[in-house]
Amino acid sequence: MREESGRKEERVHRRTAFKAFGAAGFGLLGAAGGPGPLAAAQQAASRGLPRLKITDVKVILTQPAGDQLVIVKVLTSEPGLYGLGCATHRERPLAVATAIEQYLKPFAIGHYCDEIEDIWQSAYVSSYFRSGVTLNNALSGIDGALWDILGKRAGLPVYAFLGGKVRAAVPLYAHASAKEAPALEDQIRDWMSQGYRHVRVQLAVPGYSGYGVAGADTSAQVQRMRPAGVASSPVFEPTPYVNNTIKMFEYLRAKLGFEVELLHDVHERVPPAQALVLAKAVEPYRLFFLEDPFAPEDVAWFQTMRQQTTTPLAMGELFVNRHEWLPLVTNRWIDFIRIHISAAGGLNMARKVASCCEFFNVRTAWHGPGNVSPVGHAVNMHLDLACYNFGIQEQNLFSSIVREVFPGAPEIKAGYMYSNDRPGLGIDLDEKLAARFPYKSPGGSRGNDRRLDGTIVRP
Ligand code: MG
Repeated sequence: MREESGRKEERVHRRTAFKAFGAAGFGLLGAAGGPGPLAAAQQAASRGLPRLKITDVKVILTQPAGDQLVIVKVLTSEPGLYGLGCATHRERPLAVATAIEQYLKPFAIGHYCDEIEDIWQSAYVSSYFRSGVTLNNALSGIDGALWDILGKRAGLPVYAFLGGKVRAAVPLYAHASAKEAPALEDQIRDWMSQGYRHVRVQLAVPGYSGYGVAGADTSAQVQRMRPAGVASSPVFEPTPYVNNTIKMFEYLRAKLGFEVELLHDVHERVPPAQALVLAKAVEPYRLFFLEDPFAPEDVAWFQTMRQQTTTPLAMGELFVNRHEWLPLVTNRWIDFIRIHISAAGGLNMARKVASCCEFFNVRTAWHGPGNVSPVGHAVNMHLDLACYNFGIQEQNLFSSIVREVFPGAPEIKAGYMYSNDRPGLGIDLDEKLAARFPYKSPGGSRGNDRRLDGTIVRP
């Protein structure tokens, strides 16, 4: 018995000694048994900052101008402290709102606000099936708000948590689109005179509908080329588009020279072989990038395109799943990643996409038109400021009423977007004012153009 009792005492002693060593080794205990350096640092770091929990989640639907926006507001156990995130899916905003209200809100309430990674990962798998645009947007809304809260608590802008600024402001590309080439040239010159060095150019195809040019209607002559029995619709045909676009670049370079950077969006509209023809034919005009030459379903064509042309390639505003873009990046088949950040799951996912791309020298060009909310543009901006492998940012000009609804929306001056350097995302929402702009419809609709024979054209 005595021997057994002795062994027990020895085991207890060993355990106590191990615990003491471990605690001291990790800095929890000082040499004299008082608080060690890590414990002291933890105490200092948490001084005045008790852990906060998510107490409520609100979905704000507003349409102050242009597109239907979905904004998420996460409230915390500290009265008055909240964060904002973008969950905007312009085409299906009510589906996103339902996903948040019915599923993510009850999931998120009660979690600690600073456990951003764990909340993202656990919410991502909570629906079992994953990587869809609706749930990704819903998750992006919660995620963006948590980064905003983290920054507000620490008194630091979100870019500080991404490594800090590596550039003073964010270079932007502007949009020029016209029915005639001379008018397009005038628009580009106007942007250049305002200080812009990058312009996306879209020119209407005479007689046809097309992407990116307002008011480019289908002519009666083209309608007469259609077969009997076809339903009335705008008409898009790939061959006139490809021919017209090559001529557009020939014209613009002859008139403008090569100083201004020109971009163009194919918007996935042509068969892969014709996208190859276009990318090769515009090589002499040295584009900054050619965007979305293929639909997401056809990304395997990038391997062929990369081997056949030096035209820089941008892709990805419709990507929602890492398997869609990983091979394009790791094989170096594209030059720019164009993901719509909220559609891929928000800032927590996008910061990893950017880091992955850095290792393969693929640059970022986050999707940034009007169907990204001002909160989403703020997320784009914080990443743009902190990522070494930033390429360019698509510009969206906020109207005065949008700036009233979203105080602190990023400032734009002479081709650059500037941070206001306020804590968090630096942007707020006037909820009372937002409520005065309810949706005009429950969402947009895409895919109205059809081929001459009536086949639907991918939008
Ligand atoms: Mg695009």
